[in-house]
Amino acid sequence: MVSDFLPKCTGPLEAGYEPAGWDGATLREMLEASEKLTEETGCYYGVSELALKETDPIRYEKIFSKLRGGLVNARETAMNVSASPIVQEIGELCFALYTPEGDSVALSTGIIVHVHTMSDAIKFMVRNDYEINPRIRRGDIFSNNIPKIGDVHNADVQTFVPIFWEDELVGWAGGVTHVTDIGASTPGNVPVGPITSYEDGLDLTANKIGECDTVFRDHEIRCELGVRTPMFWKLDERCRIAGCHMVRDAVERTIREEGIETYKQFIREAIEDGRRTFIQRVKELLIPGRYFAPTFNMLLFAGERGLPEYAAVDTMSQAPVEMVIGPAGEFHISFDGANRWGYHSFNCPPSAMQGAIWVLLTQTMIPNDKVNDGAYFATSSNFPPYTISNATAKEAATGAAWGYLIPAFTGLIRNISRGVFARGYVEEVLSSYAMTMNALQGGGKDQYGNDTGLLSFELSCVGGGARGIADGLDYGAAMWNPEGDMGDCEVWELIMPLLYLGRGVKPSTAGPGKYRGGSGFQSVYAIWKTVDLVMQNAGDSGCFPSPGIFGGYPSASGYRHNVLGTDLLDRFRKHRAYPSREDDPADSEITACCDGEHLFDRRTMNYPYRMKHGDIYYSWYRGGGGLGDPLEREPDRIEADLDGDYLLPRYAASVYGAVAECDPEGFWRVDPDATARRRREIREMRARRAVPVSEYLASEKARVLEGRIAKETRRMYNESLELSTWWREWFLEFWGLPDDFRFEEGGE
Ligand code: MN
Repeated sequence: MVSDFLPKCTGPLEAGYEPAGWDGATLREMLEASEKLTEETGCYYGVSELALKETDPIRYEKIFSKLRGGLVNARETAMNVSASPIVQEIGELCFALYTPEGDSVALSTGIIVHVHTMSDAIKFMVRNDYEINPRIRRGDIFSNNIPKIGDVHNADVQTFVPIFWEDELVGWAGGVTHVTDIGASTPGNVPVGPITSYEDGLDLTANKIGECDTVFRDHEIRCELGVRTPMFWKLDERCRIAGCHMVRDAVERTIREEGIETYKQFIREAIEDGRRTFIQRVKELLIPGRYFAPTFNMLLFAGERGLPEYAAVDTMSQAPVEMVIGPAGEFHISFDGANRWGYHSFNCPPSAMQGAIWVLLTQTMIPNDKVNDGAYFATSSNFPPYTISNATAKEAATGAAWGYLIPAFTGLIRNISRGVFARGYVEEVLSSYAMTMNALQGGGKDQYGNDTGLLSFELSCVGGGARGIADGLDYGAAMWNPEGDMGDCEVWELIMPLLYLGRGVKPSTAGPGKYRGGSGFQSVYAIWKTVDLVMQNAGDSGCFPSPGIFGGYPSASGYRHNVLGTDLLDRFRKHRAYPSREDDPADSEITACCDGEHLFDRRTMNYPYRMKHGDIYYSWYRGGGGLGDPLEREPDRIEADLDGDYLLPRYAASVYGAVAECDPEGFWRVDPDATARRRREIREMRARRAVPVSEYLASEKARVLEGRIAKETRRMYNESLELSTWWREWFLEFWGLPDDFRFEEGGE
């Protein structure tokens, strides 16, 4: 009976305390013992034999299924408690079960990015002696959203409920949802605006927010006042608590059925099992060696009024992603050489980095296995202090940590792809996934006159990277939520003061290749029935953060096209054409069908600016990187791309060498013989243009020495030269530069 385990609160705090851990130990003692055992034996918790799994494998799998089933059930049920489309439509939530020390045993479906971040938050509470103050008791509720404690970005709000059996804490249920607004200095949930942590919004620093299964009233008041969308906040919180309580029920049920000693044995074995499985997968899928894939993104804030001089700069981020695979299945990832954290909201503490590692490894290396912290114990990482990959400075803003993670971790995918390709698993190869951008974000008043902070989560359907044997998935999912969905237009219109004028495929977003990347899509909106709204674009521009692989091209970089002071309402009245798409920015439907002040440029990262009823906001979502030489793409695939609006006709010739013609019915035909001739000519032209590598390097070296590279790049490289001895030596040796080399900064 669940009622047997209802919380029993016994009045005022006693002077002393009864340790909550096992056999009279405190949780902190348990954590220290666990770390010592793991360190000394190399096995999680010193578990050298999987006794339960080996003697009774069916029972072992049954226990795992009961717990995993409980977690998935909690997610599927609790998501209906929330009213936020981000949670209900897109599924931005997950639940997990942890050991008393905070190691993950099992995880639900959903945003699996949090397999380890919630572990960090629980360990933070244990290490900070929460057991003594504010105490950890049956029926307590805790909440955290600080990435420096354990999270990816501040909008991922976590709830924790300790699980007791008799007088012992036997585990933790954790749940996370991505909230609609976090109360940051700029509206929305991935705020691109805060330049220090003091502007990141509501801070839940692993706080106790409830007792006796009831949320404290003062916490509710604080959140009501602290965020722009308190109704969504409250229902999201109820959703997390309901889910955690369902997980607690599932654990109690399992203990009643299997016995507490078996449960205690099982949670240790399950993690050690996860560790061994991961090592086995590494040995099966990858070849030992060192893999290196640097990636870059641009952060453009120069000229933004309202930002101090040191924050209003154009700069770049660097992620020199190194993956080292050892002969015994060792898996090491290093960001040595990353540039400095900065006065923007894209900084990543280590917990955010672990989140990104896990969301990708569970989609590549261990898609079918037990996902828990066992895999974490099987890997090692190096995120050098002071870099953007280890931003623990108290003032470092983290509200949009994904702005670094998303571009950075295409490097991990390309590293893994080279490994699996070398092993012969061609079908497992992936090119870079797409950036989940443009992030349509803003806030002010909604169409009902209420305060709002908004970000359209249709961005969770961008293109997948090209595969080794097929094109990437078109508008499939985001790298951070493999179950992502773009949501219905009508649902977004319900909660945002925006009216869809059109939604459709966006041509030529995907990276070309023998196999192209998955395509992105586009949405054209009218700002609708709001009296006060600011909007911003948050995207990539000026560089290519989704590179191709094996000769494939990168996907298209960003641009902005919004229109202020339009004649849209007049066009509606007069039944004149209005823009519903923009297939080709060089021949724009938005320009042709709408007068007004066109913000049509490559500034895709903007501080919020005011937009009014009838203005046009254009949001197009990126495609994935390509794979293989575009000249090897089969002609009928190019025909299908042209017919399906995936490719602009002018690129069929220039990129693919295709000789294509549109027939009177509007279908495209690619002439195979003429195409073969044209491709021969292109190959000959390539050969004529080619120079020996030594000549190319010499000319590039001259550019480096003379500083003839973009000012953003010079600034980024100087930061890396200062922060990393290893990277500095590598860079100087590669280019043959003097020991005291440093780029001149400034200028253009
Ligand atoms: Mn999130």
